[in-house]
Amino acid sequence: MKVLVIGSGGREHALVWKISQSASKPKIYCAPGSAAIGELAAPVAIQPEQVEKLADFATNEKIDLTVVGPELPLTLGIADLFESRGLRIFGPSKTAAQLEGSKAFAKEMLKQINIPTAAFGTFTDAPSAKQYLSERRPPYVVKADGLAAGKGVLICFNSQEAERAVDEILVRRAFGRAGEKIVIEEFLEGEEASFMVLTDGEHILSLASSQDHKRVFDNDQGPNTGGMGAYSPAPVVDQSIHERIQREILTPLLTGLKNKGIRYRGVIYVGLMITKEGPKVLEFNARFGDPECQSIMMRLKSDLIPLLEATIDGKLNDIQPEWYEEAAVCVVLCAAGYPGSYDNGKEIHGLDKLRNWQGGFVFHSGTVKENGRWSTSGGRVLGVTARGHSITAAVEEAYRAVGEISWEGMHYRKDIAYRALTNL
Ligand code: AMP
Repeated sequence: MKVLVIGSGGREHALVWKISQSASKPKIYCAPGSAAIGELAAPVAIQPEQVEKLADFATNEKIDLTVVGPELPLTLGIADLFESRGLRIFGPSKTAAQLEGSKAFAKEMLKQINIPTAAFGTFTDAPSAKQYLSERRPPYVVKADGLAAGKGVLICFNSQEAERAVDEILVRRAFGRAGEKIVIEEFLEGEEASFMVLTDGEHILSLASSQDHKRVFDNDQGPNTGGMGAYSPAPVVDQSIHERIQREILTPLLTGLKNKGIRYRGVIYVGLMITKEGPKVLEFNARFGDPECQSIMMRLKSDLIPLLEATIDGKLNDIQPEWYEEAAVCVVLCAAGYPGSYDNGKEIHGLDKLRNWQGGFVFHSGTVKENGRWSTSGGRVLGVTARGHSITAAVEEAYRAVGEISWEGMHYRKDIAYRALTNL
């Protein structure tokens, strides 16, 4: 069997790592991959957005299964293209991926089918957006409609800040075409969690719950990032919240998609705020979260390939994955300056000490290897992911491993999973 994974970050490293353990012993390719992924998969020098080239490669190499990591190729229609060429691909169609690709599309859908979410308005011109703000109270949440690499959400604590955010996105186009439209939302209070499911368009299979840490500094301070760490399971998603997510969000969502003629096949990542009234949707992603994927792959006992194939074949009701009982924690190590500008090329020390680490795995998000030495090549650099018999044990093991690694300017949060630990 030949499998192609698309992407090059920590999430794709985790997917390749898990697929490499499959009983079907696949030959794995990764486009474009990275030096670290190259230890498990053959690199393919094609970028994720070069969807035609990827389809040509998959055809020529007779790839049996393609797994899409990042969102961009999905919103460009890679799944539609592959299917039109008779190629098997894990990931939703272009229309279905609008759940992530357009916040306005997702919010309208939520409203139509009455799924709990923050009250909102959608705008294409600044005066109407400001009029809407003047009728509401702070804090305000201002979001660019399209893909903005996790940076298009601004939480504003007064009206001047919110008006500036509107001008920044709609007038000065800080996020380019992703900001042709904006969504302004009511600010929700509560604890965040994410929930990932597989769906084949007819059935939903829950993966594990997890919690991400978006802010750069401890105690959720500082600007938002792509994600500073994650753990799974998330105790805030207890049995009753889990059932409500199924009943109030996922089941109606699937029905709503079907009623619109959209067959969604792939991962749905639901970003949630668990409020006093119950779970409310913050956002959807059409792919695995990064770094949640790293924690979840660490906990998945079953072979990943049959799960991906059942999703494509509409057979998710025939399959029940097994999970390790243990918890998993991923701590993301970042370059100095991230999420602002940062330098690449800092030599990373200590990775050799973790080569045969029994307690987990170090997934690489932004590294290169030259002359046998690893150095940084990105804002988020490594995802140190440990398993433990409890969240506490997994946290201890992850930070013990983090203690082995260093480079100039390396920074990371010291409080990953603090919410789970305080809930114990
Ligand atoms: P999103 O990409 O839409 O999930 O937004 C990124 C982050 O902004 C979320 O993880 C939350 O921390 C925060 N956020 C987004 N929408 C809201 C909201 N309506 N109320 C409170 N916080 C929000």
